[in-house]
Amino acid sequence: MSKAAPASRPQRKNEGTKKGATSSQPTAPGPSAAVMPTYARQDLVFERGEGSWLVSTTGERYLDFASGVAVNALGHAHPRLVAALSAQAAKLWHTSNLYRVAGQEALAERLVESTFADRVFFCNSGAEACEGAIKAARRYQFVSGRPERWRIVTFKGAFHGRTLATLAAGGNEKYLEGFGPPVAGFDQIAYGDHAALEAVIGSETAAILIEPVQGEGGVRALPDPCLRGIRELCDRHGLLLVLDEVQCGMGRTGKLLAHEWAGVAPDIVAVAKGIGGGFPLGAVLATAEAAKGMTAGTHGSTFGGNPLATAVGSAVLDAILEPGFLDRVLVKSSQLRQGLEGLKDRHPGVVEEVRGRGLLTGLKLRASLAAADVVRAASQSEHLLLVGAGDNVVRVLPPLNVEDGEISDALARLSRVLASAAKSAG
Ligand SMILES: *Cc1c(COP(=O)(O)O)cnc(C)c1O
Repeated sequence: MSKAAPASRPQRKNEGTKKGATSSQPTAPGPSAAVMPTYARQDLVFERGEGSWLVSTTGERYLDFASGVAVNALGHAHPRLVAALSAQAAKLWHTSNLYRVAGQEALAERLVESTFADRVFFCNSGAEACEGAIKAARRYQFVSGRPERWRIVTFKGAFHGRTLATLAAGGNEKYLEGFGPPVAGFDQIAYGDHAALEAVIGSETAAILIEPVQGEGGVRALPDPCLRGIRELCDRHGLLLVLDEVQCGMGRTGKLLAHEWAGVAPDIVAVAKGIGGGFPLGAVLATAEAAKGMTAGTHGSTFGGNPLATAVGSAVLDAILEPGFLDRVLVKSSQLRQGLEGLKDRHPGVVEEVRGRGLLTGLKLRASLAAADVVRAASQSEHLLLVGAGDNVVRVLPPLNVEDGEISDALARLSRVLASAAKSAG
């Protein structure tokens, strides 16, 4: 195979001479065909960010209430995160897990101090954290002399990631299609259906895996008594309670971890997204008992918890655990909630329900209006960034340190979007 000679700017394979080229405009190249088109992306490129704002390559400012899908917990270019990353970048990036990693030990100690957990395994993403949580749960039953217990109960509308096991756990037919037989061992029931849950537990059940607030599935918060009931069921049947807090954890609901609202103690929790503030980082948190099968050689990750990632993770955690930070998240979330309820009252023809907890909020739209269209219109006509979700929900996910004025600004923009959408929806 021969490569074209370098041009004055990188040649795009979808322009110019190639068959199938649609545009050869040099000033505004379209998306590169070199990137596998697994995302239906908005045609927007950002150059920099500051706090709750993103600036596009064309110089336009966008109010970011998508937060990179609940990842940029402290907004963009937070001075403390920039300082932590830069300082670490000048010293040491990566050593592998063949050696002790000081930053990993420091972050693990801090997580253990401030959560239910005694042990932490670091990885790079939410799917990897969920995968690790599933493995730890199966392994726990195995080393406890119950190797026949390997099945895990999951819930409709769940999202646990895009690896083969987490896809099977999520059970979304659309995502599973064409990828071969789903990984075995997941029994799915309706979210919050306690009777179905009791019925599905059998002699092979190892654990129950649930998101305290479903994110991708449509921002559905599990009522606290439900989570307490699930804990009791786990205790009665010798099962582990495994929570996926990849989206709802790390301060998003106003508590460091969302299950704290229900006052239950889980056995294993997967976190990611917000914990790295934008740097890829995930973690499996577990009690000493639940982690007892995860001995040397049972699991691993080359990059997991490397010095760069854990330096940033520690800076994020420091900020979230600073006195008053989570209280402010709660104040902001009630301001946002009230505003969203107001939008529902003003636009009853298009908004059906306000959902969520803390700053993990969403608007469930009526069938006459598609969430994806509202997300696109908000971005195009109001420069407000939002995220779609299942069940025709628009997610509203500001950074946790969003300014009060930015919340009212976003609500005003969203109100105009809904008003014109209501008009065109008739
Ligand atoms: C995003 C998400 C995942 C997957 O995380 P990735 O980092 O994309 O692998 C898993 N669970 C939940 C609840 C999520 O929101």
